[in-house]
Amino acid sequence: MNYVLPFLLEEGVYRGRFVKCETLMDELLQHHAYPPMVEEVLTQAVIVAVLLASSLKYEGLFTLQVQGDGPVTLIVVDVSDDGRVRASVRYDEEKLPKQAATLSDLMGKGVLVFTVDQALSENERYQGVVELNGSDLTDSVLSYFDKSEHIPTDLVWLTQVKDGHRQAAGLMVQQLPGKAVKPGKDDFETISVLMQSVRKKEVFDDSLSPEQVLFRLFHANLLLLFPKKDIRFECRCSYDKVKKMLAQFSNEQLNDMYEDGIIHITCQFCGKTYDFKKEDLS
Ligand SMILES: [Zn+2]
Repeated sequence: MNYVLPFLLEEGVYRGRFVKCETLMDELLQHHAYPPMVEEVLTQAVIVAVLLASSLKYEGLFTLQVQGDGPVTLIVVDVSDDGRVRASVRYDEEKLPKQAATLSDLMGKGVLVFTVDQALSENERYQGVVELNGSDLTDSVLSYFDKSEHIPTDLVWLTQVKDGHRQAAGLMVQQLPGKAVKPGKDDFETISVLMQSVRKKEVFDDSLSPEQVLFRLFHANLLLLFPKKDIRFECRCSYDKVKKMLAQFSNEQLNDMYEDGIIHITCQFCGKTYDFKKEDLS
């Protein structure tokens, strides 16, 4: 279904993640009617977010935000520590190009921000910021790891629409800090070439298990597999949370929001609508 499969290579010199979303993207997209190019960039952001989140230890929420000044102005994906994923995108339909070749066609100039909010401690907030660059989101993520973390990292994402269903997958490999490559073993560059050789045909082949896909790529690299971790679409919105959000507005601002005596708020992530009458907010 939808999962992350962690693995190690070369006795722990390299760490990897394989993510596959068989139904998750359909679930995320079902309440929206995004044009294909918007769907695609959102899919990419989801795969990147799940890969990054799964490589961090946290109790709370991981959020990936991409902000730009192009036709697509904001993408938000969040992943909770127990594997709940939700995503939304903001864009101006009229400004979308006929064909988007690169990320900058869609998002212009901007930044990619990832944040980890630990549930238990206010202080343990981790944030990474990198300017958008290159032809897709993975380029920005890779330049972050290169410049800020100095951890050799590579990742790849794949998507296809089959019988009207969007499938997506991704792979990430990293060389763990302080781990030296043993003589005669593949260096990081070779590992990333092997990873990049993955093909849609095999990743989305229902007759191949994820373990088999990884074995095809890394059979010579002492592949060690860990248990799969499920991910799923679930929104965290609620009546009370929306009410709290509305409580931050002044009465004057609220008055402007009423339509026939009711404020309708639609969750940007799941499309659920919440209605408030004046007496609900007093
Ligand atoms: Zn929601």
